[in-house]
Parts: sequence; C-alpha cells; structure tokens
Amino acid sequence: MSEARIYLDHAATTPLRAEARAAMEPFLTDAAFGNAGSLHWDGQQAKWALDSARDVLAQALGAHGSEITFTSGGTEADNAALVGVMLAYRARGSHLITTQMEHEAVLNTARFLETLGFDVTYLAPGSDGVIAPERVKEALRPSTTLVSVMHANNEVGTIQDIRAIAEVVHAGGALLHTDAVQTFGQCVVTVQELGADLVTVSAHKVYGPKGAGALYVKEGVAIEPFLHGGGQERGRRGGTENVAAIAGFAEAVRCMRGEWEGEAARMTILRDGLIAMLRERIPGVVLNGHQTWRLPNNVNVSLRGGDAEILLPALDMAGVSASAGSACTAGSMEPSHVLRAMGMDALRTKSALRLTLGRGTTRAEIERVVEILANISTGRRFAHSP
Ligand code: PLP
Repeated sequence: MSEARIYLDHAATTPLRAEARAAMEPFLTDAAFGNAGSLHWDGQQAKWALDSARDVLAQALGAHGSEITFTSGGTEADNAALVGVMLAYRARGSHLITTQMEHEAVLNTARFLETLGFDVTYLAPGSDGVIAPERVKEALRPSTTLVSVMHANNEVGTIQDIRAIAEVVHAGGALLHTDAVQTFGQCVVTVQELGADLVTVSAHKVYGPKGAGALYVKEGVAIEPFLHGGGQERGRRGGTENVAAIAGFAEAVRCMRGEWEGEAARMTILRDGLIAMLRERIPGVVLNGHQTWRLPNNVNVSLRGGDAEILLPALDMAGVSASAGSACTAGSMEPSHVLRAMGMDALRTKSALRLTLGRGTTRAEIERVVEILANISTGRRFAHSP
C-alpha cells in the first residue's frame, strides 16, 4: 500500500480548513452574492459579513475595526504599508529603513521606492538572523519616516524583538511596520505586544484562503492609497471586496484563536524532536536561524556536502513536500538572500532545507522524514508511489 504524502511546507502555504471553507460557501453561491457597497438587502448581507470579519481580525490583533484594511494578501499589505506611508509623509522625510532578510514583498517594494527617489537603508542581520535594536537606532536619521522589520523570517524562522525595535524607532520619531505573516497564528501578535504602527497578516498562512490579507494601520497614521477606486475600505483601498475570501479568513482566524497556544506548544516539541533526530542521524547537520527565538513550526538545516537542488526532488519522489527557501524563490533556485545576509558560505546556503510543520503534522511523519532524509543522504533511493 502506498503511503500518504507528507506536507512540510506550511511556511509557503497551509491547506484551507473546513470551517473556513464552510464560511466562504454562501458568498460563492447565489445565497449571498451581493456587493458590499450596495444599499439593498443583498448588498447588506455582504456588508454585514465584512463588518463581522473586520471585528474578528481587530479582536485577534487587539485593534479597532477602523484600523483594519482588507487586502488581497500579505504582498499587497506590505506594499500598501511601505508605499502608503512613504508617500503620505514625503514632506517629512524620504528615508526608509528595512532589512536584508525581508520577504520580497517588502524588499522589492523598498527597491521600487528607491526608483522614485526615496532613500533606503537595508540592515544586515546577525548570523542567527537577529536584527539588533541598536543597529536600527544607529541607522535612524532625522529624515527617517518608516522602519520595516519582519516579525519572523519565512525562511529561517528567527523571531525579532519587535517591541524593543518599536521603542527605538518611536524614540527616533519614525513609524514602525512589521510583516507578521509568519507569526500570526503561531505567536502572540497583538499591536500592544508588538508596539508597531502597521502590521501585515495573510489568510493562507493560517488555514484560510489564498488571496486575502489585512493591514493594521494605527489610528492617526496616514497612508496614501495606491489602489484608487470606489472608496472602499475607508478610501484606503479601492475595489469591490472579496467577501468570500475575507469571510474564510475571519473564520480561520476565529478558529485559530482557540487553538494556537496548544498548537504552538505541540509544534515546538515536534520541531525540537525533528532537529535532534536530524542531528543524530545525519552527520554535518547545522541549524540555520536562532536556536530558541524561532517559529514553533520552522526547521531550517544545512546538510553539509548536500545540495538542495538534488535533495528536494529526492524528497518529493519519496513523498515529502519541503522547500529550500521561500516558495517565491524556490523555483529559480537562487541562493537564499536570507542565508547570504546572515553571512552563510556557499556550501551552507546550497545545502539548506526548510521543513515547516503544521496542524496536521504528526510525530510519525517527522520520524519518517528523518528516515527518508538519512537514506537519501547516504545514497539510498526512495520511490513514492502515489
Ligand atoms: N510576507 C511573508 C513573511 C511571507 O512569508 C509571505 C508569503 O510567503 C508574504 C509576505 C506574502 O503574502 P501573500 O502570499 O499573502 O501575498
């Protein structure tokens, strides 16, 4: 009998949970297809769903509903934060600080802003992926308008002390944005804890649908909209709202709130077990990222002498979905910009594997993956028959 596939790429995306799918259903049929901007009954059904979804997101983040803007995902929320703030406050200053290890949604937006004449500083992390608040402090200038530092890195899983960074940023008179796409649902992500002025989250990393996300913008902080249209989302983002996806997002968040602590504890045990077993079974395994300040579901290891370009297809053949870096760069197999920023040499970068656990991951799966990897790395082949 063939064995079921093992999915260890939850940092790339998570499967849609049944409750979220059920919550989306009415908005995908003629039961509730109205436009949330219409004043009639059909429109008001959609408007009601949007309002209650906004409340769910606001409660989860410790914010007010008026501070939540729905977007098409994390990428759009990151773009809206960086472009929106830099344009809104351009008379105040044109300097943006971010880091070399951000997701491309932030990095490429920062590069775009440079083409518009903005000045960007890209901070380097330490070898464990930590951005020291002192480095942020040193980089601040009177013209610094915004600092954008991700809450946790999607490749190596290192979690930043955003609160400490917020303190230095605010003392320097600037605003702080954090991309919390990877931490939302795994760690405490409330605006009180983080102290950030803008926070990005995404639905498909928390078992919601792809194509929905949200940006928290603190009351009183201005963002210049870049999607101009019918004044939706309080004029911050034009376009008819994707009510089905937003309803699914909210339901996924509602479910997640009841289980994240237990899941985080369970996954931390599985994660540490996986790291220990890999070290025990495969010579030359080194962990990338911080030992303890890391996402509960993230294992990023280099297998010295190995090559992810060979290991990943072999794992796939053996029935395991894993990744070398972020999904967006995995196709091109470019050396990870994150590992390079952390100062890793070519051998370590080339052999890095990212295994990210999720709600469905079991101890038995972890043990099987270790077995498969140990066999692949000693040259034995595993064929998976679906
Ligand atoms: N930011 C981080 C840290 C991510 O991991 C991702 C997705 O991989 C994104 C932003 C982009 O989010 P989305 O896929 O919802 O556009």
